[in-house]
Amino acid sequence: MAKIFCIANQKGGVGKTTTAVNLAAGLAKVGQRVLMIDLDPQGNATMGSGVDKRKLNLTVYDVLLESASIAEARVKSDKLIEGGCSYDILGANRELSGAEVELVDLERRERRLKQALVLVQQDYDFILIDCPPSLSMLTLNGLCCAHGVIVPMQCEYFALEGLTDLVNTIKQVHANLNKELLIIGLLRVMFDARITLQQQVSEQLKAHFGNKVFNTVIPRNVRLAEAPSYGLPGLVFDPSSKGAHAFVAFAQEMVERIEKM
Ligand code: ATP
Ligand code: MG
Repeated sequence: MAKIFCIANQKGGVGKTTTAVNLAAGLAKVGQRVLMIDLDPQGNATMGSGVDKRKLNLTVYDVLLESASIAEARVKSDKLIEGGCSYDILGANRELSGAEVELVDLERRERRLKQALVLVQQDYDFILIDCPPSLSMLTLNGLCCAHGVIVPMQCEYFALEGLTDLVNTIKQVHANLNKELLIIGLLRVMFDARITLQQQVSEQLKAHFGNKVFNTVIPRNVRLAEAPSYGLPGLVFDPSSKGAHAFVAFAQEMVERIEKM
């Protein structure tokens, strides 16, 4: 039965999608069966996995509105992503921005994704959900079905401040909607060890959150940033890059963590 993880941080541009796509590829590389769900109308995780969001007939939008099942809407990436790194994708595009409004009047609106996942959970070891940069109904749908949240963050001055809102939202979801939900960990991304401030914030994070901070650190690496324009995870685009190595290490760390869950 799959373990389900949201990649969330309401701050924009912190590396959520890069983490979702490369963790998906990394987990596949170490032999795990993975479904990646793009829950962001920007559709970046979809495009970054080699799926053209403009050509998708069915997306996560149809799943949320119950006009399609996940089995019908998912795309297999084996033809798109080679090197033993392929995973399935439940894509998104602009249409998804309408879901926010359309879900408002519907019953069980925050549990739509959870319900749809029941039917495919046995097909996978990991289900990763790339959340939008907001604490919206879409993110709430992700948090409602997840066992845990992975929070990518840059080690910058304001990073801790934004974390408070996210931690409070997760606490509320835990109390009211999903008893299983916990923060699996904080992932330090775009890290540059030459910058003293980043090292200081990194130390603060460890002091504050202890073993909730993942051991793996994702470095700032231009190959990770170039890869999406080729429709590939960085890990596949340049397997020898520092960024690729870091994401394989992170995938292994995740596998070890769920064994202890
Ligand atoms: P949004 O909030 O808009 O969804 P996001 O949190 O998903 O953004 P990404 O899209 O993953 O963030 O990353 C933001 C930008 O930073 C992108 O251009 C991406 O290529 C770049 N980036 C992410 N991680 C790294 C890294 N480790 N090294 C270099 N560039 C990176
Ligand atoms: Mg994103």
